[in-house]
Amino acid sequence: MTEFNITILGSNSAIFNHGRHPTAQVVNINNACFLVDCGEGTQERLYENKIKWFKIDHIFISHLHGDHYFGLIGLLTTFNLLKRTNKLTVFGPKELKKIIDIQLKVSNTKMNYELKFVATKDDEKRLLLDLPECSVYSIPLHHKLPTTGFLFAEKTEPRLLDLEKIRKYAIAKTDFKLLKQGLDVLDKDGRKVKNSAVTTKGKTPRSYAFCSDTMYHIPLVKAIKNVDLLYHEATFLHEDLQRAKETTHSTALQAAQIAKKANAKKLLLGHFSSRYIDLSVLENEAKTFFKNVELAIEGGVFKV
Ligand SMILES: [Zn+2]
Repeated sequence: MTEFNITILGSNSAIFNHGRHPTAQVVNINNACFLVDCGEGTQERLYENKIKWFKIDHIFISHLHGDHYFGLIGLLTTFNLLKRTNKLTVFGPKELKKIIDIQLKVSNTKMNYELKFVATKDDEKRLLLDLPECSVYSIPLHHKLPTTGFLFAEKTEPRLLDLEKIRKYAIAKTDFKLLKQGLDVLDKDGRKVKNSAVTTKGKTPRSYAFCSDTMYHIPLVKAIKNVDLLYHEATFLHEDLQRAKETTHSTALQAAQIAKKANAKKLLLGHFSSRYIDLSVLENEAKTFFKNVELAIEGGVFKV
C-alpha cells in the first residue's frame, strides 16, 4: 500500500515549553513530502526527524500567528544556502508574500531556486494543488486571523482488471483503459460486457485533515466528512472553555465532537497549551466522547 503518514515536528501552542515546540508537521504521501506550518525551530526538527529536506516542494501555512510560521524565512534561506535548485511553492495568507519579500529584500538575498507563492482564502473549501498521487484543499477555520486548514486526499484508484475473467471475453486491449475507468465495453462481436463482470474495486482513497487553529466550528464537519485521520487542535480542557472562546481555540472535548460529527476514523490532538504538562488529561477528555484518539506527540509518525 502506498505510504501515507504524518510526522509531528511540533505540537505546542504559542511558545516552546516542556520540551514541546510550536506547530509544524510533515505529510508524506508516496515519498512526496508536504510541510504543514513552520513554527520557529522547524529546520532543527526536520533534521532531528531525518526528513529529507529536498523532498519538500510544497509548504502550507495555516495563518499568520507567529507560532505557525516564524521558522519559514530561516528554512527558505537555508534551502538557498544549500544550493537548492528545484522549485518550491508556499501556500498561505496573502500577507505572507509581503513578509517573505521584505525579508529577502533587506537581507539582499538572491534565491537560486524558483519560489512560487499561492495566496489562500478562508471563504470556502478550495482545491490548492492537484498532483498524480493526491489533491490538497484549503478548508476555512474560525480563528482570530484568517485561517485555513488543509485536507490531503488520495486520488480515487482505478478499478482493477480481473485478467482471468477478461480472458473469457474477446475484449480489445485498447479498451482496458475504459474498464479501469469503470465503463462497460463491447467485445469483438459487439456484445456488451458489464464492467462489474471483469473488474474489482480499486484501493479506497485515504484522507488527512489538518485543523489548527480554530474554535469549535460546525461548518468544518462538512469539509472533512469521513476523513481517515483528523488532526484537530485541542488547546484547552473543557473546564477552560471560557478561555478557549476568548482565544478562538478549541477544547479536547470539542475536538472529539467535531471528529464524531465528521465520522472521522481517528483523531489526533495537538496545539497544546503550556498550562498542561501532562497531556493525558486532554486525551482522556476527548476519549469520553470519541474512542480512537491519540496525542500528536513530537517525533511521532502516524499512519493514515
Ligand atoms: Zn493562531
